[in-house]
Amino acid sequence: SNEPVDPFKQGWLKGVYNEKPVKEVQTRFPPEPNGYLHIGHAKAITVNFGFAKSYGGLCNLRYDDTNPAKEEEQFFVSIREMVEWLGFAPSRITYSSDDFDRLYELAEELVRRGKAYVCHCSAEEVKRRRGGPEHGPRSVCKDWSRTAEENLADFRAMRDGKYRAGEAHLRMKQYLGTKAEEYEVTEEDSAEVKKEKAKLKSLAENPALWDVAAYRVKNENYHHRTGDKWRIYPTYEFTHCLCDSFEGVSHSLCTVEFETLRPAYNWLLEALDHKLPSSDEKGPMQREYGRLNVEGTILSKRRIAMLVGGTTVGDSGAAADDVADGVDAIKLEEEGDEDTETPAEAIKAVTNGSSAGRKIPPVVRGWDDPRLFTLVALRRRGVPPGALKKFVLDLGVTKANSNTAIHTLDACIRTYLERTVPRLMLVLDPIKVTFTNLPDDYLEERDVPFDPKDKEKGTHKIPFTKVIYIDRDDFREADDPDFFRLSPGQSVGLMNAEHPISCKTFHKDPSTGKIDAIEAEYGAHVLPGKARIHWVGESAAHKSPVKAEVRIFNPLFKTARPNELDWKSGGYFDDVNPESEILYPNAMVERGFEEIRKNAPWPKEEGEKGGSSHPSCVRFQGLRTAFFALDTDSVVEEGKVVLNRIVSLKEDSGK
Ligand code: ATP
Ligand code: MG
Ligand code: MG
Repeated sequence: SNEPVDPFKQGWLKGVYNEKPVKEVQTRFPPEPNGYLHIGHAKAITVNFGFAKSYGGLCNLRYDDTNPAKEEEQFFVSIREMVEWLGFAPSRITYSSDDFDRLYELAEELVRRGKAYVCHCSAEEVKRRRGGPEHGPRSVCKDWSRTAEENLADFRAMRDGKYRAGEAHLRMKQYLGTKAEEYEVTEEDSAEVKKEKAKLKSLAENPALWDVAAYRVKNENYHHRTGDKWRIYPTYEFTHCLCDSFEGVSHSLCTVEFETLRPAYNWLLEALDHKLPSSDEKGPMQREYGRLNVEGTILSKRRIAMLVGGTTVGDSGAAADDVADGVDAIKLEEEGDEDTETPAEAIKAVTNGSSAGRKIPPVVRGWDDPRLFTLVALRRRGVPPGALKKFVLDLGVTKANSNTAIHTLDACIRTYLERTVPRLMLVLDPIKVTFTNLPDDYLEERDVPFDPKDKEKGTHKIPFTKVIYIDRDDFREADDPDFFRLSPGQSVGLMNAEHPISCKTFHKDPSTGKIDAIEAEYGAHVLPGKARIHWVGESAAHKSPVKAEVRIFNPLFKTARPNELDWKSGGYFDDVNPESEILYPNAMVERGFEEIRKNAPWPKEEGEKGGSSHPSCVRFQGLRTAFFALDTDSVVEEGKVVLNRIVSLKEDSGK
């Protein structure tokens, strides 16, 4: 049949549904509000919202706001905007912090059940107790065997401010204390015992179950929603699965690095009767899909911050944060660790001293700079949200991580725009052409389709007059048999005009040596095989042309693997591509631009509303040039039009 295939009802995603084929599917997108979302999050959003939509279910936007020091209002706002921009409407907006009371009660319950204890080990001691080649076998501390009553009292003391960050953690009593002897298989073991032991072994040898922290003390503890009520905050490991359960999440979809954490996810839910052992029948079921990564760019918040704000190498800022990032990335480490390391210690760890003090200026225009791959940047560049969703789904959703090249993404955007947006003539670097054989008031009003392949888009009028502008690229002062455009004594066709033109002579600006005027004749014989070039006519009555500044973007880094650069000593700066942004300050667009602007978004994209929409939804194909969108720096009413190149028309085109 002609029914379009629903990508959520195929392959891996269908398998996930079939494992728990409930009537009321509930998912969630759970970002930490500690930065701007990036292209990887477009996958997480598309997967969670799309899955729920396909199975007639609901998807919440959950702010995972359990780390007061890192959360900022602007991130909450931007995250919600990006979800909506992608065309999704959250069923509910929730905050993990709204459940702090309930989470605390469950933590006490866990203590009462003898499944959690307060531990006073330092980060170093914890590392040692987890064993390994340097430390020998795993071991537990003296507090591990305290009574539930003692632990409850100490946990309340934590809550009431007796300890500073790093001095106490509430730990889940998981498998740190399980001895290898308990699961060593012997010859006498029956098949059943062997199976039990193998299961125990896999749990006991998973670092995600080595008595991971449930609560930690925060010194910097002002929370944007709960104020100064709490000094202790729940960890990701304690919070995430329980909030999933509170919200009735059926399918908890996350990225593959969380797969080793799945047993910990289930452990806590089972320990508190939110799930049945070895069953996904009751409570949320976690499943993991591959991460989406784009090569040739960077997505790390710390690193983008260095590009946006500049750096001083050896400063307590970016470099020190990178150390904390390392801790954050592992997720298994105590989140309290970052508080126990002083900035000075962190700096010592990341700089060798030689480049300390080196000042590096900002490299990009902000978090939404079109050369970045944050969602705000992709939007500003003019990438339609539908193209991003298509990109994610075309790559497919499976357990495999995808490392995609920038040009693969660009190709997807190009194909999408090719079919959708209207077309106009835009001249990037204009040269004035005067027709010596036409009267001063000559005017041909031409009716031109916005898209020759799609009559539905309608037409618009353009003036052909005595003076027009063509692109510098389309002219050569010396003719050449391989050049098919305009040169002295030669002729060329014009797109959307009746007759070809021929060049008589040209002039150069003596101060710059650049050609600044061409004299030509309208109506010429043109040899077969010659190109038809684009142009814009000059007519005050038609308010033509519209002047614009055009920004062409190229990869931000010279190397294809910017993640491997030496960021900590500022080495990234030497690798920034000096041609990553090329400006054409004097570009000209034909008048149809105004119609496109008034009709934007055109075509109507899910997630983009008319009227008050973001400027970037004013998009068009500049014939023979590139795809463009209106930039946020524009003040069109005051005649300031700034256009961003979304993508080139062809891969590797110079423009
Ligand atoms: P980052 O550290 O890359 O900025 P994060 O993992 O801290 O991102 P969260 O706010 O924790 O971001 O992520 C919210 C959701 O988005 C999580 O479910 C996470 O798994 C998912 N996610 C994050 N990065 C990617 C990615 N590159 N591809 C797919 N999903 C992602
Ligand atoms: Mg995170
Ligand atoms: Mg991360």
